[in-house]
Amino acid sequence: MHKTVFVWDDAYLDYSFPGDHPFKSLRESRARKYMEERGFFHHMDIRRPDPADESILLTAHSREYVDFVKAKSEEGEGLLDYGDTPAFRGVFESAVARVMGSVTGIRLLAQGYDHAVNIGGGLHHAQRGTASGFCVFNDVAIAAKEGEKYFTRIAIVDVDGHHGDGTQALLYEDPNVLKISLHMYHRGFFPGSGEINEIGSGKGKGYTVNVPLPPGTADDAYIYAFDSIVLPLLDRYQPEAIIIQEGGDSHFDDPLVELKLSTRGYLSIIERIHKFSHKGSGKILLLGGGGYNYDATARVWTVSVAELVGINQLEVESLHDCCFTSSSTFVMEKVKEVVEGVKKVHGI
Ligand SMILES: [Zn+2]
Ligand SMILES: [Zn+2]
Repeated sequence: MHKTVFVWDDAYLDYSFPGDHPFKSLRESRARKYMEERGFFHHMDIRRPDPADESILLTAHSREYVDFVKAKSEEGEGLLDYGDTPAFRGVFESAVARVMGSVTGIRLLAQGYDHAVNIGGGLHHAQRGTASGFCVFNDVAIAAKEGEKYFTRIAIVDVDGHHGDGTQALLYEDPNVLKISLHMYHRGFFPGSGEINEIGSGKGKGYTVNVPLPPGTADDAYIYAFDSIVLPLLDRYQPEAIIIQEGGDSHFDDPLVELKLSTRGYLSIIERIHKFSHKGSGKILLLGGGGYNYDATARVWTVSVAELVGINQLEVESLHDCCFTSSSTFVMEKVKEVVEGVKKVHGI
C-alpha cells in the first residue's frame, strides 16, 4: 500500500536564482528537512534521478533553445527570457536535474511504485523556445510525454497560483493528457492566460481545462470548485496516472499571489486526488512548483507527502496552519459563476 519513492538530487539546490529574486531552493531544502525530522524516509524510498539525457529535453524544447540555455549557463549572466528568469552559472545542469527527477518519477510509477514525489519539479511556465516565470525547462510536459510510453491516459492537475501556460501550450493538441489548471486570474496578473474558453485544439480539443479564480479565493470556494470540476472530470477521463503540480503559491501567505489556501486546504485537495487514484491504479506523481513564502511552501509539500505515504497528519500537526480559510460572499459568488462557466464549456 502506498509504496512511495522520493526522487532527489542535491543539484536541485543549485537551481536558485541569485540576489533578491523570489525563487529560492530553500523551499526544497526545508521541506526535505521537515520530512527527515519526522522520519518520512523510514516509510518511503529515496532515489536519485536517472542520468541526464539531453535528448529528452527535445520532446518539449527546440534545439536552439537548449543550446542557448547551455551557452548562457557557461556565461553565467543575462536573461533566459524577456523578463524575470536570469541565467547563472550552472543553470543548465541544475534545470536538467529537476527535469530528470520528474522523468524518473513517472518511470518509477511504471515500474511499480504507487506514488512518486519530485518537489524539485513543477516548472510549468517554460515554453518550447524560451524560459518563462522562473522556469527554464518544462519538466511537467516532459514527464507527461515520457509517461505516454507507459500509460494511455494521464491527467495533470495544476494547483499552482499561476496558470500552467507552458504545460498547456506544449500539450495543447494532445488528447492523451488531460490538463486541468486552477489558478488566480486577474487583469495584469502573470501569465495572463488560463481563461475558461482555452480548451485545447485539434485532437486535444476538450482536454485542456482552465479554472480562473478571483483573488481572495480561500479553502471553502477552492474546494467547492475542485469538487464540482476536477473530480467529475477525472472520473470521466479515468487516467492511468495523475501528475499533480503542487505550486505552494496559492497559500495565503504567498507574497506574489492573492489566493488564500491554507495547508489544510491543500491537504484536502491531495486527499481527494489520492482517494480517487486508489479507485484505479493509484499512480500519482507529485511535483512542486512555485511558492515564494519558503516556509509555507515547505509545509504544504510536507503535509501532502505525509498523505500519500500514509503518515498520520498528527505527526505533522505542528506544520499546519491553524484553520481552514473562508472566502467572502462576493468571492464565493464569483467562484460559483466560474464553476458554472467551466461546467458548461466541458459538459459536466
Ligand atoms: Zn496511496
Ligand atoms: Zn506560481
